[in-house]
Amino acid sequence: MTTQTGKDLITIAISKGRVFEESLDLLASLNIQVVEKDLEGRKLLLSTSQPGIRLLVIRSKDVPTYVQYGVAELGIVGKDVLMEFTGGGIYEPVDLGIAKCRLMVAGMEPQLQNSTRLRVATKYVRSTQQHFAAKGLQVELIKLYGSMELAPVLGLADCIVDLVATGNTLKANGLTPIEHIADISCRLIVNKAAMKIKSATLRRLIEQFKLAAKG
Ligand code: AMP
Repeated sequence: MTTQTGKDLITIAISKGRVFEESLDLLASLNIQVVEKDLEGRKLLLSTSQPGIRLLVIRSKDVPTYVQYGVAELGIVGKDVLMEFTGGGIYEPVDLGIAKCRLMVAGMEPQLQNSTRLRVATKYVRSTQQHFAAKGLQVELIKLYGSMELAPVLGLADCIVDLVATGNTLKANGLTPIEHIADISCRLIVNKAAMKIKSATLRRLIEQFKLAAKG
């Protein structure tokens, strides 16, 4: 196997967790396969069937940061994460069409009570603020890190803003979708400086991702 130097090595940052398998399937359709034994362990830097390409497996929220600083030239990450990201230095050239879901307002009633100052529990603080500001509503945001569905049930908040795929989690907790904020799917992101320095390789890969993207 030829050893790649930093000049021609491409690192793709991908998210652990829910979107991991779908990201690997998409990469496999580009003929970028992870070496099987790497998947069994807890390695976070994975070599692939292409000697010039390696994968970096990190938390979804860290993917844009690694790409911003050029540690990874490419990243695969949910639009929900990108909507919360305040850094720069990245392009978002391809909607990969995987891990599709919606960012929604949900609560126990089918409508929001507009007489009071709403308390909204979410981990999507930026998107939530923008959504309610656009409606001219001032809300009190309660930042949570998980299990948002409990907040309205236990009276911590009037409603939540969370990702909804099948709607089963909402239903199981007695909640109803109220407002649609955004359609979410995974996006390919690219470091802007790398796009100049490794232009030919990255342009070729971006074209391959476009062809492999799910409609
Ligand atoms: P569901 O019960 O299918 O509506 O899924 C809702 C739960 O899965 C919520 O806890 C969401 O945060 C999470 N979820 C759904 N889709 C995604 C996705 N594409 N990426 C990350 N989390 C998701």
